[in-house]
Amino acid sequence: MITTQPQLPAILSPGLLVILSAPSGAGKTTLAHMLRKQFPEAEISVSYTTRPARGAEVNGQDYHFVDPLTFKAMIDRNEFVEWAEVHGNFYGSSKGVIDHSWRPRGLAVFDIDVQGGTSIKRKYPDAVTIFILPPSMDELERRLRSRGTDTDDVIQRRMLAARAECEKGAQSYDYLVINDRLDDAFEQLRSVVIAERTRRGRVDITGLRLQQP
Ligand code: ADP
Ligand code: 5GP
Repeated sequence: MITTQPQLPAILSPGLLVILSAPSGAGKTTLAHMLRKQFPEAEISVSYTTRPARGAEVNGQDYHFVDPLTFKAMIDRNEFVEWAEVHGNFYGSSKGVIDHSWRPRGLAVFDIDVQGGTSIKRKYPDAVTIFILPPSMDELERRLRSRGTDTDDVIQRRMLAARAECEKGAQSYDYLVINDRLDDAFEQLRSVVIAERTRRGRVDITGLRLQQP
């Protein structure tokens, strides 16, 4: 299937809106932490969800855990840039983080699935979409097992979902980063941010006063 990419708008946000997606276990959380360390100005979106916290998850850090009424009120107040129902629970990304991409050198990062990422890209065509892939499906399964957070059943379900997610991401995202050696994958991710920051339309050249005689 051929998918058409949204056209870049004439005026780009001065900062960057990055959407990072990956199948579970590919290393997105690890890479997002490295990104935050490298670019301390980055604002990484923490999603809202109605599902209960799992294990060691921390409210405000892993997710904002809210009840369905609170979530519904946020939808009514138009506070989400996108939201979706996944396995009977609601998940949504707050609009506030987008503001960072409108600051010079700002960096807003959404660490979400392809469905959410595609929906944000539709609204903000100059968002940069990056998909993290594992080097192989066997390696993905090995990483999910080595993380030690999921049962066999959950791992089988995640592996099934991972194939579909990889197919969608590989077909439509702007950049594909294969996370084989972690350092190499991070170098590619970092390079995308640096290169996109120098894209025509994002670099402030007003200091050159080209309009004056
Ligand atoms: P995700 O957020 O995509 O679900 P994680 O960042 O939690 O994935 O990574 C899954 C597991 O794989 C973790 O145990 C992590 O330490 C490990 N991992 C991440 N990147 C690599 C890599 N390049 N090589 C080997 N192990 C990795
Ligand atoms: P989990 O409950 O395992 O943390 O996440 C379940 C699914 O919800 C994953 O596919 C995850 O990517 C997705 N998800 C997490 N946050 C958001 C969000 O803000 N928006 C959307 N659309 N999906 C999300």
